[in-house]
Amino acid sequence: MSYEDLLNIDELWNKREYFKEDRWGVAYFCKKCEQLVETQRPDSRGYRFICTQCESEEIVLGTKEWLITNYKIK
Ligand SMILES: [Zn+2]
Repeated sequence: MSYEDLLNIDELWNKREYFKEDRWGVAYFCKKCEQLVETQRPDSRGYRFICTQCESEEIVLGTKEWLITNYKIK
């Protein structure tokens, strides 16, 4: 996990209340697949996510809007 990812998570943690609202759905972006993916979370208390497509752990969390803008997902 890169430092950038840790920053992202801290930011999410600070904003966690927002995610309870409908418009702030959390999405997962896999850096290997370069798309939004479904993930598995082996430790429900940890920030470890595994891509269900390629089993990479290079997952970035964010709102769908933020991820699409940030990673230029089509
Ligand atoms: Zn993947």
